Amino acid sequence: MRTEVIVVGGGPVGLLLAGELRLGGVGVTVLERRTGASTESRASTLHARTMELFDQRGLLERLGTPPNDSRGHFAGLPLDLGGTDSPYPGQWKVPQARTEELLREWACGLGAEVLPGREVTDLADLGDQVTVTVRGPAGPARLRARYLVGCDGEQSMVRALAGFELAGTDARREILRADVTGVQIGPRRFQRLPGGLAVAARLPSGVTRVMVHEFGRSPTSRAGAPDFAEVRAAWSRVTGEGLDGARPVWVNAFDDTCRQATAYRRGRVLLAGDAAHRQLPVGGQALNLGLQDAANLGWKLAAQVRGWGPDELLDTYHAERHAVGARALTNIAAQALLLFGGPEVEPVRAVVGELLGHPVVRAHLAAMVSGLDVRYPAGTEHPLAGARMPPCTVHTGAGPRTLAEALRPGRFVLLDLTGGPGPDLGSRVRVLPATVTDSALEGMRHVLVRPDGHIAAAGPERRPPLAELRRWIAAPR
Ligand SMILES: Cc1cc2nc3c(=O)[nH]c(=O)nc-3n(C[C@H](O)[C@H](O)[C@H](O)COP(=O)(O)OP(=O)(O)OC[C@H]3O[C@@H](n4cnc5c(N)ncnc54)[C@H](O)[C@@H]3O)c2cc1C
Repeated sequence: MRTEVIVVGGGPVGLLLAGELRLGGVGVTVLERRTGASTESRASTLHARTMELFDQRGLLERLGTPPNDSRGHFAGLPLDLGGTDSPYPGQWKVPQARTEELLREWACGLGAEVLPGREVTDLADLGDQVTVTVRGPAGPARLRARYLVGCDGEQSMVRALAGFELAGTDARREILRADVTGVQIGPRRFQRLPGGLAVAARLPSGVTRVMVHEFGRSPTSRAGAPDFAEVRAAWSRVTGEGLDGARPVWVNAFDDTCRQATAYRRGRVLLAGDAAHRQLPVGGQALNLGLQDAANLGWKLAAQVRGWGPDELLDTYHAERHAVGARALTNIAAQALLLFGGPEVEPVRAVVGELLGHPVVRAHLAAMVSGLDVRYPAGTEHPLAGARMPPCTVHTGAGPRTLAEALRPGRFVLLDLTGGPGPDLGSRVRVLPATVTDSALEGMRHVLVRPDGHIAAAGPERRPPLAELRRWIAAPR
């Protein structure tokens, strides 16, 4: 396999992107600094939209049925995520290490080359290709590819080397976290106490996760993770409870740094995931946002490399995902203010709590946190254009199936609802003569669905207008 795209970073975002690129027929090499699987305790939540994306790639069978918890929160105020309009409502509890394992197996099964123990130390965009210098087991080496994507996390080396600007604000508050065993701690769901905020929850693995923030306390400058003694002391000050006998499995601190790359693409270098946006990992949004970046970018970059995408297609990645990231960072920043603020934020919390009593507010926030309300700018007037295809069963000659199944090969799907044999739109579009019983699609005779499950076009005409098709495919039939 010839490497056409280099992905720097074999975390969840880099691995999902690698699989998406392989589906698009692109030769991809993932360079990962670590030599083995990550042992860090990181994200544990997959949201409804990510589960839908995994379904679109046939990954859920491999994942099994993880525990589901519909009890989400907004700034610590209870928010039910169970009622969202998705086949996968709620929060799916999957340790990040398991998500990575799943995606690695999938990407490698599709032919991606994943090279551990390779650290990228330099790169150059030469205009027609990108070169990287890599420190690996056999010493330094240089690799080249047509494009490079930095999926190398919040301290992204690619971002720095390629000169991306990261705009936003630095940390003002931090929260300490420890996963512990050997101690019985009662559950605390974002408990606000006079001196600070305390969280304790037992994870499916059996360890207990404690988190503590002291109101008014600025982040401590320290090299690396805090000592467990620091967490224990803060926990005791805030809760008045000791953590005697607790054995730390993993200790870390998070802060409310809120920064986003001003561009997600510079020439032949792109960013995705934490490399493109830094945020407080509240409510599991950080990981899910990154995975959804990869799902948006993969097919577009494949189209660019394989030569079937129109010139502007790759730039829609920034246009679409930067806006989504900015909105997510805003809701995360709002939550950080309400979580870390002391008594002065109580009136705002009371008002937000009252608003959350209204079903329409709950539904709005639940769709936002779950990633279900993303709507990309669309060229057509239909109210669904740009939104994700609503979950539905399509009835074809071969019987009923979900749309997710039809999207598994990673191609466009044209739902032809005319009852006819359907037009031939060329090899990029799979035409599926079908009927759909979804009131949102009433009166539609065609629905063109992108490989990432968003609606590219929908209308009463027999087929998408040519001008519309040309937004996505350079030379449609
Ligand atoms: C310590 C920590 C705890 C977290 N806890 C939570 C949580 O509880 N809940 C939550 O929702 N989110 C949490 N997050 C956020 C979540 O883990 C991230 O959003 C998610 O990992 C982003 O995935 P990614 O693939 O973009 O980046 P990462 O998972 O960070 O992956 C980046 C990869 O790039 C590799 N890499 C870095 N530099 C180089 C280089 N120069 N060359 C080659 N490889 C390189 C790294 O080794 C790493 O494997 C946490 C993040 C951190 C850092």
